[in-house]
Amino acid sequence: MAEQLVSTVDEQALDEVVTFTSELIRIDTTNRGGGDCKERPAAEYAASKLAEAGLEPTILERTPGRGNVVARIAGTDPSAEALLVHGHLDVVPAEAADWSVPPFSGEIRDGVVWGRGAVDMKNMDAMILATVRQWARVGFRPRRDIVIAFTADEEASAEDGSGFLADRHADLFEGCTEGISESGAFTFHDGSGKEIYPIGAGERGTGWLELTARGKAGHGSKVNPANAVSRLAAAVARIGAHEWPIRLTPTVRAALSELAALYGIEADVHAADFDVDGLIARLGPAASLVEATVRNSSNPTMLSAGYKINVIPGEATAHVDGRYLPGTEDEFRATLDQLTGPDVDWDYHHREVALQAPVDSPTFARMRAAVQEFAPEGHPVPYCMSGGTDAKQFSRLGITGYGFAPLKLPEGFDYQALFHGVDERVPVEALHFGVRVLDRFLRSA
Ligand SMILES: [Zn+2]
Repeated sequence: MAEQLVSTVDEQALDEVVTFTSELIRIDTTNRGGGDCKERPAAEYAASKLAEAGLEPTILERTPGRGNVVARIAGTDPSAEALLVHGHLDVVPAEAADWSVPPFSGEIRDGVVWGRGAVDMKNMDAMILATVRQWARVGFRPRRDIVIAFTADEEASAEDGSGFLADRHADLFEGCTEGISESGAFTFHDGSGKEIYPIGAGERGTGWLELTARGKAGHGSKVNPANAVSRLAAAVARIGAHEWPIRLTPTVRAALSELAALYGIEADVHAADFDVDGLIARLGPAASLVEATVRNSSNPTMLSAGYKINVIPGEATAHVDGRYLPGTEDEFRATLDQLTGPDVDWDYHHREVALQAPVDSPTFARMRAAVQEFAPEGHPVPYCMSGGTDAKQFSRLGITGYGFAPLKLPEGFDYQALFHGVDERVPVEALHFGVRVLDRFLRSA
């Protein structure tokens, strides 16, 4: 065990993580949804880097051009459960005019790598590549089998990416019980000097709703008690104003407990009269790590009805971005039935499961330890993601997903703002930290 406590990442791995991040950014994999994306060149790039390390990657496509890559590293203990390490290759669009640098330049300037995907998540893709290539150089084999997957289509439906892999290529993930990927173990600066490292251990489910109100079409000057627009507007207003009740999942309860301890706030998170909102109000900026995940949510986002000002349409539609916590889907559905009322129908436009991962598992403890080793001043805490990742699709294979893509960010780098934001960028030092922590965790996993 002793040799595992020495930093095992060499100079070449530190160089490669930066080069690979930059080069992956230069491969434009903008995903505009509706199938408008080509991940294939990025998939070939990643596959070639894995092949150079002696692995045998497979490129898989459901739709031509939508490349996914899967490779397996055989562990030393064949009886151990396998670990999935995955990252998506696509990125959200970037409006070049808004940026300080061309968003697909991958420019490295003043110790910072710039471009779309620098934090979401070509950084992690590069960290995975740099780590396993170093293992090949020194002949290291992990204890567990490690399955590496680079996916297409995460930023849209995942149908050409993790959904396709989970449904059609389950055999490639045989033995995988746990997975790690994006949106965890980054530095969250609380503004008063504390550095928090939220590690993802759950995701809210996606419940995107389509509402349809039907009524009686007619002249706008007449009496009409069955006006579809009024019916829809009333339902949308009720949904938007609804105060969802507190529903604490084990992950969020643990997050609240650890944050309370960190700020020296007395709170018994298991007490029946635990004042959740009262605690959150005292957490300062750190409240943003938990406030969106203590209850379900339903935000109206789209409205559509009518074609002429003096014609009452017979139908009106709306869309609502709903999110529900693990274990609350039945309640979510029943509440929506109530809020929409008898005159408005609703259905799922898109639905994805909610996820819950244990925070008392050996794997969670190892992620926490790996962060603490390289950021001794940091405070790792579990958290639940308010949105979703590829982990939802891989959960169909019985894989428990964690958010662990370590990055040590300096003050002023607001991870959540850079995510899908303008001038997305990542410091070279953050990538170096990431590859060290990822290597340490994977060696211990
Ligand atoms: Zn992402």
